[in-house]
Amino acid sequence: MNSNQLRQLFLSFFEEKGHRVLPSASLIPDDPTLLLTIAGMVPFKPFFLGKKEPLYPRVCTVQKCVRVSDLDKVGFTRRHHTFFEMLGNFSFGDYFKKEACIFAWEFLVHRLKLSEEKLWVSVHEKDEEAFHIWKDVVGVPEEKIVLLGDEDNFWASGPVGPCGYCSEIYFDFGERLSCGKPECKPGCDCDRYLEVWNLVFMEFDRQSDGSLRELPRKNIDTGMGLERIASVVQGVDSNFETDLFLPIIEELKKRSGLDYHSSTLPFFRVVADHVRAVTFLIADGIFPSNEGRGYVLRRLIRRAYRYGRKLGLEKPFLYELVFKVIEIMKDFYPELVDKSRLISQVVFQEEEKFDLTLKSGLSLLEEMVSKARKEGLKTVSGREIFKLYDTYGFPADVAREVLQEEGLDYSDEEFKQEMEAQRLRGKKAFQEKEQALRDYKALEEALGSFKSEFTGYDSLEGESKIL
Ligand code: ATP
Ligand code: MG
Ligand code: MG
Ligand code: MG
Repeated sequence: MNSNQLRQLFLSFFEEKGHRVLPSASLIPDDPTLLLTIAGMVPFKPFFLGKKEPLYPRVCTVQKCVRVSDLDKVGFTRRHHTFFEMLGNFSFGDYFKKEACIFAWEFLVHRLKLSEEKLWVSVHEKDEEAFHIWKDVVGVPEEKIVLLGDEDNFWASGPVGPCGYCSEIYFDFGERLSCGKPECKPGCDCDRYLEVWNLVFMEFDRQSDGSLRELPRKNIDTGMGLERIASVVQGVDSNFETDLFLPIIEELKKRSGLDYHSSTLPFFRVVADHVRAVTFLIADGIFPSNEGRGYVLRRLIRRAYRYGRKLGLEKPFLYELVFKVIEIMKDFYPELVDKSRLISQVVFQEEEKFDLTLKSGLSLLEEMVSKARKEGLKTVSGREIFKLYDTYGFPADVAREVLQEEGLDYSDEEFKQEMEAQRLRGKKAFQEKEQALRDYKALEEALGSFKSEFTGYDSLEGESKIL
């Protein structure tokens, strides 16, 4: 089953269950507290918080999400992306825990035909109701229900207000992908148990004294990562081998002439991930800049470009790769087609600009890395990094990323000292310039008076005329 069919199946299943199908909201949330849309529930927050009345009591969506907080994991786990799509069903004061669990199980087992044996669930250790539903109503064997604490299985949108327990559904990929530790079970960070779906039961209103009061109207918010469930139904070991990513990886293989194996894997994955995020961010009206969302975009383009170099791609290439993304995604997101040239142009300009910076600075940075290595140091001089920034415009955050990939860092303290010294030098130079200007003015004035005396030539002239 391909990802297009998967999205449709999800939406039609929940439509049959009385849900209104709504389109994905923009990656730019209508919420000043958030930089980007990070989950399917974001557009519905006002309903959950009781600030607005929903038009429909049950809805379902495929929501575009970007989680910058997962950036460091991307490329190094089988399951994390910056941009991903969240399949979600929501109830605003309508059905609650029992139906949410039954719907999710029915979809996975009867629609997607996943083997029940491979499914595990987690519940919050205090949530006896959910434990009972999974065990007695759905019929999950007790030993496959894992109890987890607040960190994994409690959701809150802030210190006070609506919150509640969660319950997650995991797919077991088997021994083969296990970390091998005896305590390896759902919730373990290795590749064996993949968290596919999170069901949030919004049932409390946390008071300022920390106590939990029952909400008069309870809500359901669920989220299942499309890329993860695609890896399950397509029987592949990672999200990056699904039809959502494979054509991008294939294209990169062709262009780089490299194979997709353990040492190059993260490079392929980072580029394939970031080019999707970049495409969707620009399509939603974000342009590269030095702050906020624009900076997220700039950072992703630069990072993808740098990882492209690790694959031996030396010239701008992302601007062409965005067409691959659009080809894969256009059936569900037809608006990408109209914007394809704009997206490609924005990416190209940014790549070209960054290419110049990289070329001038990267080899110097690489020299610093090998020098630090030789000397057995863990840091390079912050002063040198400042020089790189000051002379070549090489961004300090990019330098830090490069160093960290080599297990190194630089001292912020030294960098700041150098910046301050530069500022003072600048100030001194400014003061000297000001002084020079003042001296010049004084001189000019003096000359001016001399000049007015000089106009006395007129009289001299006159005199000469007289003479
Ligand atoms: P994980 O523990 O694997 O980081 P999570 O618990 O942080 O996931 P949730 O916040 O519960 O994730 O989001 C709901 C669902 O969205 C997850 O069960 C997963 O399927 C998907 N998801 C979350 N983060 C990502 C990501 N960075 N990339 C791809 N899918 C994700
Ligand atoms: Mg996470
Ligand atoms: Mg989790
Ligand atoms: Mg979760």
